[in-house]
Amino acid sequence: MKRCFFVFFMCLFLTGCGNAVREYSAVDTAMGTVVTQRIYTEHEDVTEDITVLLLDLEREELSRRKVGSVIGRINAAAGSGEIVVLPHKLQQELIFLQEFSQKSEGAFDSSLGGLCKLWDIDTWATKTDSPGGSAQDSMPNSSKDSTQDSIQEGPAVSGFVLPTPTEIQAALEHCGYEKISLTKEGISIPEGMVLDLGAAGKGIACDRIHAFLQEQDVEAAVISIGGSVLVYGDKPDNTVWQVAVTDPFHQETYIGTLYLKGTHFVATSGDYERYVEMDGVRYHHILDPFTGYPADSGVVSVTIVSDSGMLSDALSTACFVMGADEGMKLAEEYDAEALFVLKDGSLLMSEGMEQIYREYR
Ligand code: AMP
Ligand code: MG
Repeated sequence: MKRCFFVFFMCLFLTGCGNAVREYSAVDTAMGTVVTQRIYTEHEDVTEDITVLLLDLEREELSRRKVGSVIGRINAAAGSGEIVVLPHKLQQELIFLQEFSQKSEGAFDSSLGGLCKLWDIDTWATKTDSPGGSAQDSMPNSSKDSTQDSIQEGPAVSGFVLPTPTEIQAALEHCGYEKISLTKEGISIPEGMVLDLGAAGKGIACDRIHAFLQEQDVEAAVISIGGSVLVYGDKPDNTVWQVAVTDPFHQETYIGTLYLKGTHFVATSGDYERYVEMDGVRYHHILDPFTGYPADSGVVSVTIVSDSGMLSDALSTACFVMGADEGMKLAEEYDAEALFVLKDGSLLMSEGMEQIYREYR
């Protein structure tokens, strides 16, 4: 496991009752992406515990590439009739995602692993932005598949071969969330199906970290896992959190900033995060479960703010597939705020988003 871990603690604030609130920061890699942490606490530094939590979550539960993970075991048992027993939290999360797939009318589908393999998304290059950023609490990094084993950098893959329509149809035969059998006993999937939680894993990780921060009595924190960001509590200096929204057309900069008070979960899905280009066409990593091809809904990025990491992450992917009009309706149903960047560069945002978003000039 690639790890380049460093931690440093910065300044001290003295609270009224005399307890020092310290600020700790860390940059690490986990879940195939850059993880940045800033934590404010009176207690011990927990940044390393959070990194361990993420690595364990990936290895033991979410990664489809780890044979011993729960998802790996479900995939290995596909078609055998074996019912794999789920840890309680993961069971709740998968139940939520199944309902979400239904609500999104299939735009979000956790069973697209075979299709992702056919497109060979794992081998596509991703851009690794440097984390952190000037006045911002969080500069969104390019988001990668949350269950990726190692970060890959560099130019798009040479020798990319476009799957044929026949291959795509054959892969689609093995997809379909409604074919997953999920009961209180456990889960089983049909032969040939491959579960892939890449579209919700980083959000699930943010939820797990949120629970951990509460348990550890941490005062405030900002944690960024690729395109998913958790801002937690109130900053000790009482300023608001600032989360930058990447410019999908120029990823080295950002189009605007979200100003957030208290705890929120932000997720972005964009066509610039992982892709290959061939003959002037960009093939990106967010697939349309109906066509089997990269989604082409007129959207280039979607940013969601909600009170759940998993919901924000799942919504950003579903909204990308559904397009701005249908996606906005779905976000509204879940009381989430949405910001769509369209192909022509125009923005569409929910009313609540207008209150928290400021364009960068
Ligand atoms: P995200 O960056 O959160 O939008 O998630 C994209 C990742 O989720 C891809 O790399 C795939 O692993 C997986 N994926 C792609 N398309 C879909 C989809 N329509 N529904 C669910 N997962 C998807
Ligand atoms: Mg997502």
